This record gives sequence, C-alpha cells and structure tokens, in this order.
Amino acid sequence: SFRALRMVKDDAGVRPEFQVLPTSALPEADTLIRVHFSSLNYKDGLAVGGRPGILKTYPMTPGIDLVGEVLTCATAAFKPGDIVIATGWGLGERRDGGFAELARVNAEHLVPLPAGRTTEWAMSVGTAGLTAMLALMALEDHGVKPDQGEVLVTGAAGGVGSTAVSLLATAGFNVTASTGRPDEAEYLRHLGAGQIIHRDELTALKRPLEKERWAGVIDNVGSTTLAAALASTRTHGTVAACGNAGGVDLPATVFPFILRGVTLAGIDSNTCPSARRKLAWQRLSADLPEGKLDTVTHVHALDDVPDLAQQILAGHVRGRTVIRVKD
Ligand code: NAP
Repeated sequence: SFRALRMVKDDAGVRPEFQVLPTSALPEADTLIRVHFSSLNYKDGLAVGGRPGILKTYPMTPGIDLVGEVLTCATAAFKPGDIVIATGWGLGERRDGGFAELARVNAEHLVPLPAGRTTEWAMSVGTAGLTAMLALMALEDHGVKPDQGEVLVTGAAGGVGSTAVSLLATAGFNVTASTGRPDEAEYLRHLGAGQIIHRDELTALKRPLEKERWAGVIDNVGSTTLAAALASTRTHGTVAACGNAGGVDLPATVFPFILRGVTLAGIDSNTCPSARRKLAWQRLSADLPEGKLDTVTHVHALDDVPDLAQQILAGHVRGRTVIRVKD
C-alpha cells in the first residue's frame, strides 16, 4: 500500500484528502516508480485548490512532476534502481501524478536523471525549468542572439520566470525581468537580471506597435502583458508564449507580425516530444549553474501541499517548491 494526496469530489464539492491505497489502485502502465520528490507548479495549485479545468476525472492524484526510483519495468528501457523523471503527458491531470509514494508511468514518457544530478535537483527544475529551457530553445531556433539586445522575462519571480532569467543570463543575454513584486528585485538580480521593471510598465503599453525594445521575450503572463511584449519586440524578434498567469486572452493586433516579422512561438512542455525533452534535460543539466537553483528552491513535506496550493494561487510563492515524498 502507499500514501497519496487525492482530490475527491462529492456533493460537498472538490477537496484534497490523504489516503492509503493498495498498489492495484495505480493506473495501468509499464513502469512502477517509488517517488522520491515531486514539485508544486501553478497548475498543481489550481488542481489542489479545487479549481475546475485541470483534473479530468475524480478521484485523482495531482502532481504534474515526479522523480523516483524504478521498482519494476516491463520494457527493456529501464531496470530496477534507475532514477527517472516524469513530467507532463497528462501526469497529475488525466492520470495519477506525483503527490503519492508510488506511481505508474509508461517508459516512453520517462527521462533518465542526467548524470551527476540529484533527485532533488530534478524537481527544483521540474516542469517549470523544462518549460523555461524549451522557451530558450525556441528563441535560439528563431535566431535570437545575445548581441541583438535586451530580452524580457515576464512573471519573472515565478517558477518558470526565475529559471528563465537564470538560463538566459547564463547564456549571455542581457535580461530584463518584469515583476509585480518589486521587493524581489535583489533576488532577480542574483539570478542574473540586468534590469528590473514593474509589470505595470508593460500593461501601460496599449498601442498596436510600441518602441522596439526586446530581441526576444519569454512570457508567463499572457493577456495585455503578452500583447505589450509583442508590440515592443524588435524587428524579426521572437516571443515565446508559456503561460497565462495574467489571463488567457490576447488583445493584440497583427501589426508586430506583418510589419516587424515578429514570431510568436508557442511552448507546451506537456506534449513536448521525447527527443526534444531529453535534449532539454541534458541542456538544463549542462547549462544551469551548479547551486543556482538552491537559493530559489524550498523543500516542503507532502502534508504541506494543500496549504502551499493556496499560497501559489495567491501569488505568494517565489521560485520553486520541491515536495519531499519519500522519508
Ligand atoms: P508561478 O510560480 O505562480 O509564477 C507565475 C508568475 O506570474 C507569478 O510569480 C507572478 O510573477 C506572475 N503573475 C501572477 N499573477 C499575475 C497577474 N495577475 N498579472 C501579471 N502577472 C502575474 O507559476 P509557474 O509554475 O512559474 O507558471 C507560470 C505560468 O506558466 C502559468 O500560467 C503556468 O500555467 C504556465 N506554464 C506553462 C507551461 C507550458 O508548458 N506552456 C509549463 C509550466 C507552466 P511576478 O510576481 O514576478 O509578477
């Protein structure tokens, strides 16, 4: 048997509940994993906070990220004792996720832990770090280079944003961090931001085309922020759209695209194909400076997840939250 944080739904509504379940309660898949760590992302906050739209059925174990040890694998891909990472592919949304001591996942959806890295490191990266790396790769694919000028990260003090600032700075970019929390300025400078702007500066930009400023953008906010980022991106620059922390709408015009050749690149870590995913993890391991995430990562117990979910929804969580699942 194993312990899990389950989201249950009945006449009283949706709520989190700690349960002890038999192994047979796990979903069908070829690889059984003893979970060491999970992490808390905004999406997990929505799921555990009982907000609609994330969990497709109930009861369900949320947790979109996990890292752990293979106990059994019915394919030749892994052997017992191998350490594997699972993120996305519906984990913690359509199938039971990481907020449990055991998980079953198909081997094709697992990534081996990069050599020399710890399980805790993998979850300090998690979906947030993978997303930030996929966004950086998208900028690179579209030819954005450090000598072209400033790059912008919005929602910079969040999980994706923090890692994006760090990755871009390490790659030699001059990073401007946009945040609604000016008291996080020192933290963002420590991560490598050269300039800090208040998020209101962006939402104040309302014209279809604004003064050209950004060679590239990693946006976690959407809505008027993404529209402003597009309008102030330099000719032939690229904007990677990752998130919707500020809203799902996009009140923009086509002018940045047709008059400046700006590219809007969509990022979806959930369905990112296996080969690109493995490449991204290798690069995260190679490029994220050792120890850099330590200062932005807080480790909490599984029991704390319901409280932490409320905090991330309220925008009070800084950086990354790792969840210790195995004692
Ligand atoms: P997070 O840690 O909560 O970070 C979100 C950040 O957005 C906050 O820290 C805040 O940054 C900013 N923000 C929050 N509410 C805002 C508002 N009303 N207006 C403007 N800015 C606001 O969440 P996360 O896990 O990093 O995820 C960030 C976003 O990316 C979420 O929308 C998430 O759903 C999405 N995401 C997408 C993918 C993908 O594959 N595309 C993967 C992971 C996450 P400041 O305090 O610095 O202002």
